[in-house]
Amino acid sequence: MNNIKLPNQCPACNEPLVVTQLSCNACQTTINGSFVLPQFLKLNVAEQNFVMQFFLNSGSLKEMAKQLHVSYPTVRNQLDDIISKLTNTTSK
Ligand SMILES: [Zn+2]
Repeated sequence: MNNIKLPNQCPACNEPLVVTQLSCNACQTTINGSFVLPQFLKLNVAEQNFVMQFFLNSGSLKEMAKQLHVSYPTVRNQLDDIISKLTNTTSK
């Protein structure tokens, strides 16, 4: 299994991508359709990593700032950016 990150935005027009095929590695069954990506996957890879770190640090921004070697306000701003991105996507 390779580790290529799932792209979430069309490189041609920047519109959000949808999933059109899912497959089972065990029995090769494939399912076709047009599936909207989960909200979390609408974030780019860096943002996903940020959210995962936030989660693994039990939501402590102070701890995250320490780990990332940045100031608390920097982490706070990153979190706010992600929140507003997710909020805007939801209301669309
Ligand atoms: Zn299967």
